[in-house]
Amino acid sequence: MSNIYDFIVIGAGISACTFASLLNKSSSDLSILLVEHGRRIGGRATTRKSRKNKNLEYDHGLPSINFTEHISEDILKLISPLINSKKLIDISKDILLMNEFGNINNALNHDLIYRSSPLMVNFCEEILNQSINPKNINFSFQTLIKSIKRIHDLWEIKDNNGKLIKSQNLILSSSLLAHPRCLKILNINSLPLRDAFIPGKDKVVDALLKQTKKLTYIMRKVYIFYVSNSSVVQNFNHQYLQIIFTNIIKEDLNFERIVFQRQSDGSIIISLHCSYINNLPEISIDNMIKSLISLFSSYKVFLDLFFEASLIDTMDWRASQPLNNLLPKELQWSDNSKIGFCGDWFDLNSCGGVESAMNSSIRLVKSLTRVDL
Ligand SMILES: Cc1cc2nc3c(=O)[nH]c(=O)nc-3n(C[C@H](O)[C@H](O)[C@H](O)COP(=O)(O)OP(=O)(O)OC[C@H]3O[C@@H](n4cnc5c(N)ncnc54)[C@H](O)[C@@H]3O)c2cc1C
Repeated sequence: MSNIYDFIVIGAGISACTFASLLNKSSSDLSILLVEHGRRIGGRATTRKSRKNKNLEYDHGLPSINFTEHISEDILKLISPLINSKKLIDISKDILLMNEFGNINNALNHDLIYRSSPLMVNFCEEILNQSINPKNINFSFQTLIKSIKRIHDLWEIKDNNGKLIKSQNLILSSSLLAHPRCLKILNINSLPLRDAFIPGKDKVVDALLKQTKKLTYIMRKVYIFYVSNSSVVQNFNHQYLQIIFTNIIKEDLNFERIVFQRQSDGSIIISLHCSYINNLPEISIDNMIKSLISLFSSYKVFLDLFFEASLIDTMDWRASQPLNNLLPKELQWSDNSKIGFCGDWFDLNSCGGVESAMNSSIRLVKSLTRVDL
């Protein structure tokens, strides 16, 4: 293979994996490289392997996958084999709601809610497994892209180690290189996507940059607690349970939901999701546990878990989910500059992040396979 890829995709989350899998299905000879900052695929819907305790592997981002009743035929085609083979499990019964009086009830939700089995990272793996010529899908992990340039009709991207990779087409599956938040995160002075073009050269890119600036996100901090395998854990009869807190609790404590995930050795990982818009008020772990104990005071099985829980990890998701000013689908591809965009930052059409991320990639592949690549 020449060292110029047909496509470089920056990112390897759900949108990037959907894009690569579908493009490979329709044009299996095209070479694709997914460049990902993280250690594995999945992006915000990935799974963390503990470096300290090799037995622990837990979902520390998106805890479940929602699809609305408007789910497209194309997404159904991708997920039906996973549902049939129980790699996507319906968990609507494992999602409960806690009100401000500490009562737990079934959550009323009309969405289809799934968990990827055994772990969230497997969802992206399974989507990629549906490609037909996997040898043409390549990966570069732990590679952070800081600069992109278009030179002599080719894309040149540079990673954090100064290595240069080239492609005919470039796809950004994350808004990071186009959004002002990258200046702080990447410690750079200007937007890489803006630097790649002089204003006025590409109308799609100009409009995309203008609109991306206005995008806002829900921020989330996830606290991960561990409860080792003991009699307390054996009394807890769930493989997986998610409890959503009502708005009053959320406003008071920033607690959004709490997720219990059983580990292969029987122990339990508890992830407490706190969401915030500007700042998360400082809260000590002791006070956090005290608040949980007070909320769950009528449920001994949970209290026992909280008494034994120890904090092992935290994850700060500063752009966990787009909130406002999503971008229109018309800005997903510039044929002039051979650059495309996908991800949950495009038109949600009243659906959740995963559904919109997948829809955006499906649309992009459809439009690309109609143009001359
Ligand atoms: C804690 C949490 C809870 C959530 N809860 C919900 C929910 O309840 N409902 C809902 O609808 N959605 C929720 N989401 C959002 C959902 O997970 C996302 O909408 C979805 O996963 C987006 O997928 P994506 O492919 O668009 O982006 P991502 O998963 O973010 O993929 C983009 C990838 O690009 C990589 N990347 C970015 N910039 C660079 C660079 N310069 N160089 C190399 N790699 C780069 C990133 O590392 C990332 O892996 C939640 C997310 C989190 C984190």
